[in-house]
Amino acid sequence: MYQAAEDRYEKMEYKRCGRSGVLLPMVSLGLWQNFGMEKPLQEQREILLRAFDMGITHFDLANNYGSPALGKAEENFGEILKSDLGKYRDELLISTKAGFDMWPGPYGNWGSRKYLMASLDQSLKRMGLEYVDIFYHHRPDPGTPLEETMGALADIVKQGKALYVGISNYGDQEARDAVLMLKEMGVPCLIDQPRYNMFERGAEDGLFSTLLENGVGCICYSPLAQGALTDKYLKGIPQESRAARQGTTVGGRYLSEEKLDQIRQLNELALERGQTLARMALSWVLREEAVTSVLIGASSVKQLEDSTACLDNLKFTQEELDKIDSILK
Ligand code: NDP
Repeated sequence: MYQAAEDRYEKMEYKRCGRSGVLLPMVSLGLWQNFGMEKPLQEQREILLRAFDMGITHFDLANNYGSPALGKAEENFGEILKSDLGKYRDELLISTKAGFDMWPGPYGNWGSRKYLMASLDQSLKRMGLEYVDIFYHHRPDPGTPLEETMGALADIVKQGKALYVGISNYGDQEARDAVLMLKEMGVPCLIDQPRYNMFERGAEDGLFSTLLENGVGCICYSPLAQGALTDKYLKGIPQESRAARQGTTVGGRYLSEEKLDQIRQLNELALERGQTLARMALSWVLREEAVTSVLIGASSVKQLEDSTACLDNLKFTQEELDKIDSILK
């Protein structure tokens, strides 16, 4: 029988999510990869329970996680809730999303009210939950009026199926429009979930300031560039890594010779700071005032522990920040 560690709230730091009542752990765990068919349930369980024991209260899912078995991550998470974590439900902040291709036909993708309502019902069933804490629209839908998508999110909160709502992958102007619309509907947007890491800094061009201005929290996904911003690829591609798996994007996106050279230089700087590169990359994301939490992935307890230790050194000198900028130029 799992009993959560008694000291679980002693080390983690929690930050207010925008202008809301919600505090997020500064490190949150996502279940996109590694929590579907990639590894046995027992290994997934170990990672999730260790996370909770370290004060990671926020777990992020989506309807399609677990690919190619869409929905499998929610199903597995539901199993672990049933066997272990469920008794701590009120200490957990669980999110899910809809917005990508999930089932055949015209109603299983994008941002219609029809899709979002049905998808959340499916997610709740897979996880065995009555409500999720945060429900996100996973990506903007150019074909559906924003009023329809935001109206569905607002109604989902009013129905009690989600306590809060968020958006993900919205550009600056799209985010502005969505936030304003939700506000007018009386259901404030709690949080935005953009991609942000040392290689992909688009959120700095307006999005972060929009979120700060509007009191919306921000949780950044792929803060380690899917594992590229660690020391793991410095000597080639390890067999156990995401880059070695078929159908993943880390290699094509982040492991060019030019980027590997930058990773080497960043690794040296991290060592000078007394951090692993993973920790430095996460501390660097957390330096942004707008950022509430980094949303990491982990394929082992060891990685989870290493990454979470970023909290031990969150400060950068101006010289270090300039050096990082010049390496990334
Ligand atoms: P990361 O950038 O944190 O990459 C995680 C991967 O990095 C791990 O699977 C592991 O790779 C490697 N890794 C992690 N920690 C370490 C470490 N300390 N040392 C060495 N290697 C390490 O995040 P993800 O890209 O996995 O995304 C995180 C979460 O963000 C997802 O689970 C999901 O919840 C969310 N997300 C949201 C999206 C959206 O559209 N809203 C899109 C993508 C993600 P390996 O498996 O090779 O060991």
